[in-house]
Amino acid sequence: MEQERYKDRGHTSSSKGLRSRECPLLIDLHTHTTASDGSMIPAELVRHAFAKGLGAVAVTDHDTISGVDQALEEGNKLGIEVIPGVEVSVDFSPEVHLLGYFLHGNYYDSIIKTLEELREKREQRNPRIITKLNELGFDITMSEVNRLAAGGNVGRPHIARVMIDKGYVASIEEAFDKYLASGRPAYFKKDKLTPAEGISEIARAGGVPVLAHPIYLNMSTDQLDILLGQLAAMGLKGIEAYYTDNTAEQTAQLLQLAHKHKILATGGSDFHGMFKPDIEIGSGRGSLKVPYSLLLGLKQA
Ligand code: AMP
Ligand code: ZN
Ligand code: FE
Ligand code: FE
Repeated sequence: MEQERYKDRGHTSSSKGLRSRECPLLIDLHTHTTASDGSMIPAELVRHAFAKGLGAVAVTDHDTISGVDQALEEGNKLGIEVIPGVEVSVDFSPEVHLLGYFLHGNYYDSIIKTLEELREKREQRNPRIITKLNELGFDITMSEVNRLAAGGNVGRPHIARVMIDKGYVASIEEAFDKYLASGRPAYFKKDKLTPAEGISEIARAGGVPVLAHPIYLNMSTDQLDILLGQLAAMGLKGIEAYYTDNTAEQTAQLLQLAHKHKILATGGSDFHGMFKPDIEIGSGRGSLKVPYSLLLGLKQA
């Protein structure tokens, strides 16, 4: 049944063409699972993407590819394209996130080692955040946070969720705005790769490095233009032009910048399930639409 419905939307070669022009296939190239700070296990996330009618979904967990295999397997079962990915934070002010797509090949093992090191850095940082929260008077322990993360890479959204469950804050946003964001009293910086290292690690592992959510950099178009020139010289291959929190004007500007720097445009929601309950897979806060055509460029890169 589901398979038939899927075929009908124009994904298979037999029904491509007119139908897909009438109802263009949409995708999501930025999502998180329980391998990091998403709330759905990878198979569930893929089923969710499929149920929402998406033509492809990328799994891009923070500093890990441990959710990718299960997602690929579920994608094969359902007949929805799953793209293996990762999201890595790099040292820059403000923080820059890089997405890496289609990691494969000879140096795959080397990036796994790097990702394990990044996990260790998280494990060193998170108790420091908890200590700061304790000093601020909150009764919260690392084991409560670890229980929620259930073996996945622990991030601040897990800590925020425990704070909600204990009645200390009303939302994830409030936890970040008051305590966890950079510059707030419970922030503790974690060691990161430099932007050049992040880009080259992804590229060396056969992946396509892409700048995630450029709008979070809070830069003017001119500043972003300069930064993109620098990152492109380091090997950056794309920017996330379509994103949950972009306005249409911002997306248009980012598409222009991608064109100018001869890099790809990508797009995604940054879906985290219940860790960011206002953001839906594919559609973000309601108006996000990421066209399938972007994936064709990514595959060629
Ligand atoms: P971490 O891996 O601990 O650095 O946390 C990164 C996660 O926190 C990502 O999912 C971000 O989207 C999320 N995050 C960072 N800043 C904020 C913020 N101000 N509000 C909500 N989520 C945030
Ligand atoms: Zn996250
Ligand atoms: Fe991010
Ligand atoms: Fe993300």
